[in-house]
Amino acid sequence: MSALLLAGCGSDSARRVFVLGLDGATFDLMDPLFEEGLLPNLAAFRDRGTHGELKTILPVISPPAWTSATTGVNPGKHNIFDFFQLPRGTGQPVLTSALDRRADPVWRVLNEEGFRTGIMNIPMTFPPDSVDGFFISGFPYGRIRSGIAYPPELEKEIAVYPLDPFGESIQPGQEGRLLKVLRDTFERHAEVAKQLMSDKDWNLFWVVFTGTDKVQHFYWKFADRNHPEYDPVLAAQFGTAIRDFFVRVDQVVGELVALAGPDTDVLIMSDHGFGPIYRELRLTSWLLEEGFLEVSERGFERVDAMAPGPFGGLVRVNRQGRDFRGSVPVEEAPRVRDDVRERLESLVDPETGRRLVEAIYAKEEIYEGPYVDNASDLVFLAAPGRFVGRKASGSVDVWGLPSYTFSAFHRPNGILMAAGPSFPPSSKRQSLSILDIAPILYWLFDVDLPRDLDGRVPAELVGEEALAARPPRIGDRTVVIPPGASGLGDESQREVLESLGYVQ
Ligand SMILES: [Zn+2]
Repeated sequence: MSALLLAGCGSDSARRVFVLGLDGATFDLMDPLFEEGLLPNLAAFRDRGTHGELKTILPVISPPAWTSATTGVNPGKHNIFDFFQLPRGTGQPVLTSALDRRADPVWRVLNEEGFRTGIMNIPMTFPPDSVDGFFISGFPYGRIRSGIAYPPELEKEIAVYPLDPFGESIQPGQEGRLLKVLRDTFERHAEVAKQLMSDKDWNLFWVVFTGTDKVQHFYWKFADRNHPEYDPVLAAQFGTAIRDFFVRVDQVVGELVALAGPDTDVLIMSDHGFGPIYRELRLTSWLLEEGFLEVSERGFERVDAMAPGPFGGLVRVNRQGRDFRGSVPVEEAPRVRDDVRERLESLVDPETGRRLVEAIYAKEEIYEGPYVDNASDLVFLAAPGRFVGRKASGSVDVWGLPSYTFSAFHRPNGILMAAGPSFPPSSKRQSLSILDIAPILYWLFDVDLPRDLDGRVPAELVGEEALAARPPRIGDRTVVIPPGASGLGDESQREVLESLGYVQ
């Protein structure tokens, strides 16, 4: 019904943009598949539009990356830094949720401007927003299994909806089971996306599939002869898991792009890239060895590596007055931080003789905004092939093989491909930023850009001429919610989440 009815409402109401997110998709993996002709739909899409590498933000994990894409601001402004956070004065990490987001995503602003938005499965969007349109939250969900959609009746309408798993691991002998879960989840999500795209009324439809990320994490070692845990027997069984997954994704991309129609501008993007990990540093063991951690009856003291779960790249100085049982006096904290930083910077992988750390920053150097202090004190990126984990179970070794679960991890280069009426074809691979996604969307909808955005509308994507003819207008609106102001939801919503077991 939409086309006919909307035609009467003026041209803006008929404007449509489709964003397709492929978590962890990278040209490093896709280029060889393009060469082999295995991704014909993605290749055709790339060729009729414009594309580039999409530089993501640090730390290179989905929650801050997708939130930077949807808001157009850096984590110092939107306050989503990690899957977990340490509430002030407690030693117990809790899952981050959309209630912690302190900047308005594009759908809020577009709704205010009269556009309908359909949002599906974008990570770190639980609990669902009450949008003008429809909304299905993305992971993590804690232990919650329902209440993920808006309007609530949408959940009945879509019936079967497998939630993206979180914190899963694979055990030897169980490789096939998890692969089936990833495939089945993707197939059902693809069906729901097609159904919503055809049946609902939308101006912006944004869906994310996360299987592209997980399949790389878990199955890389079966396809990579250089991986220390490469096993020819398992390789015969699972060596094509990643490529098969992307081949199937390509078919679904073809269907969704066709359904969106030729008048719709389409962006295909990822939140970060991917690469193998051959060896890992266990940060907790390293900090102990270097004397930054002391174990006492009260637990760890001095510097605690705030990298809950398996993700590294974050160090938090255990500061007096801020952290639970904080032991480092405030005036000493910068010196302790710089000491850790210098030693990490000069840390050499004994196997390769090369530096472990590719880049390391104090939080003030990479974030800007009212929520910078909620970040870890040091944020760093491991060198290619290397991973920083928290600790290995049953071992105090500083260096070791990666876990059986993670044989690949995120790299900073994601992808963006854009095609449709607003994107002139270009074969040149551009360099773009994930912070540019929201500004591009505002520009496509001809809406004033909020004045506190960190990204821009890249001329290399939309064309110099189009940008000169219609320069982005900076409006009065701001998206950052100041500290103390009420933001998304309220404390009663948070209490409900806690009572439902969201907080781990
Ligand atoms: Zn991932």
